[in-house]
Amino acid sequence: MKLLEKKIEELGQIIGSDILKVDMFLNHQIDVNLLDEMGKEFYRLFKDKGINKILTVESSGIAIAVMAAKYFDVPVVFAKKSSHKNVGNDCFMAKSHSFTHGKDYEMIVSKKYLSPADNILFIDDFLAGGNAAFAVLDILKQSGANLVGIGIAIEKGFQDGGKKLREMGIELQSLAIVEEMSETNGINFRKC
Ligand code: 5GP
Repeated sequence: MKLLEKKIEELGQIIGSDILKVDMFLNHQIDVNLLDEMGKEFYRLFKDKGINKILTVESSGIAIAVMAAKYFDVPVVFAKKSSHKNVGNDCFMAKSHSFTHGKDYEMIVSKKYLSPADNILFIDDFLAGGNAAFAVLDILKQSGANLVGIGIAIEKGFQDGGKKLREMGIELQSLAIVEEMSETNGINFRKC
């Protein structure tokens, strides 16, 4: 999505070799018009798939998921991140690892909000190694809900999450794929 690539080029900050900071429009301050366009694009890509619910992970996925949900006219459920091991029996729970914080956490979703009747689109802000996505897959499996596809705002194509998910046959659509990036040479996007 050209508009998103342009924003990343203009306002993204490359930290070290593998972190892209987009606090100016996505992860701290939010460019509502840009996110609205992203929501519209996810709708264009997945509109014929019978999606009845969008699942995301707190906190940065929520704004994008909500924008998309307006177009699909479906609810958003966001997985919560907890450091408590004991979450009780009323939640689906999967272990994950935060790429940005370098810490393990439990991803939890109440059993009230996922069931085998659901056709789910999972939306997130970034895809790196795929830890968050694999924890979501685990939770969906426990719930019996059907994963229709994954929509990612920014995929870092030089990390292997996207490759693994596509090899599993999952329909993964990323609005921008960073092929390579460095503080000295900037960012190259994958040509679609
Ligand atoms: P993964 O689980 O795929 O390894 O990493 C994805 C999660 O880590 C996303 O939900 C996102 O919050 C965070 N993340 C991974 N890479 C980046 C990055 O380069 N920049 C930012 N802002 N977040 C990232």
